[in-house]
Amino acid sequence: MNCDVKAGRDLDIRVVCIGNELLKGFTVNTNLADIGRMLTGEGLLIKESLTISDSPEEIVQKLDMILKSGCDVVVTTGGLGPTKDDLTKKAVADYFSLPMVEDAGVRRHIEGYWTARNCPMPESVLVQALVPKGAVCFRNEVGTAPGMVVEVGDGRTPCVILLPGPPAEMIPMFRDEVLPYIAELSFGRTITETICISGIPESIVESRAVEALKEISTISLAYCASIENVKIYISSKDPEGIAVSKRLLKRVFKGNILPVGVSSPAEHVARLFMRKGISVSFAESCTGGMVAAALTGIPGASRIFKGSIVAYSNEWKKLLLDIPGYLLDVHGAVSAECAGGMVEALCRKFGSDAGVAITGVAGPSGGTAAKPVGLVYIAARLGGRGVVREYRFPGGRERVRMRSVSAVFNLLTELYRAQFK
Ligand code: ATP
Ligand code: MG
Repeated sequence: MNCDVKAGRDLDIRVVCIGNELLKGFTVNTNLADIGRMLTGEGLLIKESLTISDSPEEIVQKLDMILKSGCDVVVTTGGLGPTKDDLTKKAVADYFSLPMVEDAGVRRHIEGYWTARNCPMPESVLVQALVPKGAVCFRNEVGTAPGMVVEVGDGRTPCVILLPGPPAEMIPMFRDEVLPYIAELSFGRTITETICISGIPESIVESRAVEALKEISTISLAYCASIENVKIYISSKDPEGIAVSKRLLKRVFKGNILPVGVSSPAEHVARLFMRKGISVSFAESCTGGMVAAALTGIPGASRIFKGSIVAYSNEWKKLLLDIPGYLLDVHGAVSAECAGGMVEALCRKFGSDAGVAITGVAGPSGGTAAKPVGLVYIAARLGGRGVVREYRFPGGRERVRMRSVSAVFNLLTELYRAQFK
């Protein structure tokens, strides 16, 4: 391995996304997120990113600024195609005073691409075979514009890696060719491991994690919250520090930790229930079938899912779920009593091992002082155990409904753990 990055120092990686459409907002910059995720998976981090226009002056100016600030690897995306607005390669070649030369391998690839499609090849596409002298090309398995690396230091760094803009071309090229290339440049690198937690809000996850790991000085923590989970990223150059941290966090968060490879509470429940052959059904009001959709989105759901009743109006709660009229008059449809009645009828009708009923005020209208938007009752049954819980979810209609779905599966996990502890 030929490496000239000093041991112990992280590789300084910068990403420059090139494209007018990114600045105008016509295209969302997914390349930055995909590159960031793929690097993080290898324990490498982007130090900085820039999004700039398809202007050669701009490309040269930013490249100059970045390289002079001591960067090891610059990754650019976009502007490698055959059209007049594709200016990245030439700008980079001009900056390093390199002539453009034809790469015979790339030319063969382009010609083969057109022959395979049985189409006459326009001469203009051969501009894609021109690369800055000395550049090493990455093959484009999807399109014709090659990626390439220009090594400009005495050793292998600093280097500039040019990648095509279309994500369908960029992602496989980065994953299969660029990532191994960059990983080889790095050593003494930071490792990042992820723990995924569901059913606990981010602020509580953070305070418990900080408290649990306060004695460990060799790690750094980062958090990423979504409606379905909170991810804790533990980063360190010290593998032992990471291992100890994971053990401590597992002790603190126990049943709320999602297994590796599982990212949603629905998937977690599906795994647990499939293992024990537990059947489940739902009675949904404010989620309108979203709970059933979450479960049926998981392959193999037919092994555990019996069905769902969506009873939105009071009339159909009475007809389909045997909710007595007086109960609705006295307590209302959004009540612990109604949710309890719904789950009882549900389990009776479906004969399922587990059942969950959901009723709530998703908003934006329909809330009152006593029953505000976000008030949701979830009643769940598993085996002999039953629980009815009240939630007050923040956010608008969609977030309240999505949080309800997560809460359903978190509650089922809780009942499962109580049953099979
Ligand atoms: P092409 O041969 O298609 O011209 P290229 O390498 O020259 O490829 P661009 O011209 O910059 O790349 O971009 C082509 C298309 O790829 C854009 O119109 C856009 O749809 C998509 N694209 C470019 N950059 C990004 C990005 N950062 N994130 C997501 N999509 C992008
Ligand atoms: Mg282009």
